[in-house]
Amino acid sequence: MEEIDIKSLNLKELTGILEDIGEKPFRAKQIYQWIHEKGAASYDDMTNISKQLKEKLKEHYPLTVLRQEMVQISKIDGTRKYLFALSDGNVIESVLMRYKHGNSVCISSQVGCRMGCRFCASTLDGKVRNLRASEMLDQIYRIGADIGERISNVVVMGTGEPLDNYDNLLKFIELLTDENGLNISQRNLTISTCGIVPKMRELAERKLQITLALSLHASSQEKRLRLMPIANKYDISEVLEACRYYFEQTKRRVTFEYSLVNGVNDTAEDAKELTALVKGMNCHINLIPVNPIKERDYVQPSSERVRDFKNKLEKNGINVTIRREMGRDIDGACGQLRKRYIER
Ligand code: SF4
Repeated sequence: MEEIDIKSLNLKELTGILEDIGEKPFRAKQIYQWIHEKGAASYDDMTNISKQLKEKLKEHYPLTVLRQEMVQISKIDGTRKYLFALSDGNVIESVLMRYKHGNSVCISSQVGCRMGCRFCASTLDGKVRNLRASEMLDQIYRIGADIGERISNVVVMGTGEPLDNYDNLLKFIELLTDENGLNISQRNLTISTCGIVPKMRELAERKLQITLALSLHASSQEKRLRLMPIANKYDISEVLEACRYYFEQTKRRVTFEYSLVNGVNDTAEDAKELTALVKGMNCHINLIPVNPIKERDYVQPSSERVRDFKNKLEKNGINVTIRREMGRDIDGACGQLRKRYIER
């Protein structure tokens, strides 16, 4: 009998499986709630399930649970950076950020990434594999269990390109926002993409209420090409058109992520081009002073330069924020903790 990843099943699929082994539908709901609402780490935790059924489940439906390998905790703001091991020995990173409005978790969607963005440490060794829905979910469940608090916001902005793992991503969204699970509101979920146009359009047509964040990072096609190889495939104008389409379909304002690299994309000319590029769009720009990584020679602009860039956009009526740097003392860029761990 083939093993089934029980944590990636929705309630209907789980009910079908339990019926196949002669169990009543209410059992499926109980097990589903143990897995997704209470974040049970083992079948043994499920106190209202018989021993006999637990043994059957253990044998054929192993429960995906990530193993916490390491956690770094910021003394400044309580940010926690986790390194989790998957069942095949691969490791991934996730981050917990504590805000006044609640706990937010940033998760990985793939082991490594094949998109090759020049400013990113996660892509230096390419993509190893996609994460399953269960492996995306369990980053949130394990962190919730570790801190003993509810997670209210989720961003899929860690290692990986979520739209390059589209089917698993959709399943993840379904389970994360399900009322019998953690029941996180779609509005509290952000998916970040480097701009895979056909998938952005497909996602738009689902009319979900999630936030789409586009990694823009440049003010023109020519400059984007220097930073992001994906621009070879999709021109900046096509990507922005897909963002407009996303807004039309969902009425959700798109966020543009813009990493500021000193002297590369933070000049007055860049501010002017960027203004022209997004003019008339219902959007929000998030400026991210780049985190230096030793494999690339990008430098973070001074805070004056960052503020100056922001002011230039604001003067043109653009909605813009500077991303607050979280966990400054626990080692910067996304993907670095994993990379150093593997190197060791
Ligand atoms: S920024 Fe995102 S899409 Fe680009 S290489 Fe890094 S993980 Fe991949």
